[in-house]
Amino acid sequence: MKKTIILKIDSENPEPEKIGLAAGVIRQGGLVAFPTETVYGLGADALNSKAVRKIYAAKKRPLDNPIIVHVAKKEDVYRLAEDVPKFAENLMNHFWPGPLTLVLKASSIVPRVTTGGLDTIAIRMPSHKVALALIREARTPVAAPSANLAGRPSPTIAEHVIQDLYGRIDVILDAGPTNIGVESTVLDITRDPPQILRPGGTTYEELKEVLGKVSIHPAALAKSEIHVKYARSPGMKHKHYAPKAKVILVEGEFNAVINKVRELAEQHAKAGEKVGILATDESSSRYNVGIVKSLGSRRNLASAAKNLFKLFREFDEDKVDIIIAEGIPQEGLGLAVMNRLRRAAGYNIVKAD
Ligand code: AMP
Ligand code: MG
Repeated sequence: MKKTIILKIDSENPEPEKIGLAAGVIRQGGLVAFPTETVYGLGADALNSKAVRKIYAAKKRPLDNPIIVHVAKKEDVYRLAEDVPKFAENLMNHFWPGPLTLVLKASSIVPRVTTGGLDTIAIRMPSHKVALALIREARTPVAAPSANLAGRPSPTIAEHVIQDLYGRIDVILDAGPTNIGVESTVLDITRDPPQILRPGGTTYEELKEVLGKVSIHPAALAKSEIHVKYARSPGMKHKHYAPKAKVILVEGEFNAVINKVRELAEQHAKAGEKVGILATDESSSRYNVGIVKSLGSRRNLASAAKNLFKLFREFDEDKVDIIIAEGIPQEGLGLAVMNRLRRAAGYNIVKAD
């Protein structure tokens, strides 16, 4: 087991000596978990294949699942990628720094291990002050997937990183809870119209406003697993975001959903299972069996994004056998939340009507 250094760091004014220490670790080929505005990331020097390989090992991540490369300035895009389309500049101006990842043709300086063997590279500029300071000081692009064990819910507080990766990585920078709570939106701009491969912190509506036309990969919306052959973003095909308990997702009209969740909760409780219910503020008082947790109000889907992964981990601590989750509207951040819920449920979806 490695000695992992945990450093509390100021999220608005990160202390230079702490950034210096962490950046030194990155430069020397080590692993640093750090906060971004979406979730905590696990960073290594993106141009050092030996360092990037350590990310896969620490996370037990399948080698064909590529890693997003984080930069602190737009100019870096032009050395990491080739054939950057003109409208990419427009997207960067609108959404960077922020939760939008652009998939581009990779340049030859990028190690294949970083791109999971693909000829494309995914790049973003995060807006979190700690992330930006770390990348700047490391003076190299930073490859960083979410800082969790592969398949587990992404970490939104440092405690989650400690649970999964303590003793497996060099440094954890703890700046408190992340703001958005779901990962970035992955947008493939090698095609026309650009296509969302993974919905996330930048909404479909926002992208549409800037691009005019944007498509969504069927797998990102799909209610059933896609065939591996179609996985242009390999993360799509791996089991993901899942708590230890089995998850059932109930979708449909609000009142029908509540009735169905009640029915399922009673059934499973009768069968002797410990039941968790993932509800919303508008519905949580309607359940009388199981441990009920709320994602927040249905009128504020940003709160659902912020709470989702934390509540999954809380249900694990409660040792529930099954989580029955209410579907929420797919608008705004709701699309990203529903994508994570469907994947966590392993497409075990019940239609209520
Ligand atoms: P995470 O590891 O949780 O940060 O997720 C990264 C996501 O970005 C995964 O779904 C990856 O498959 C996707 N991704 C990373 N690089 C690429 C790429 N070059 N092309 C397509 N998708 C990518
Ligand atoms: Mg991840």
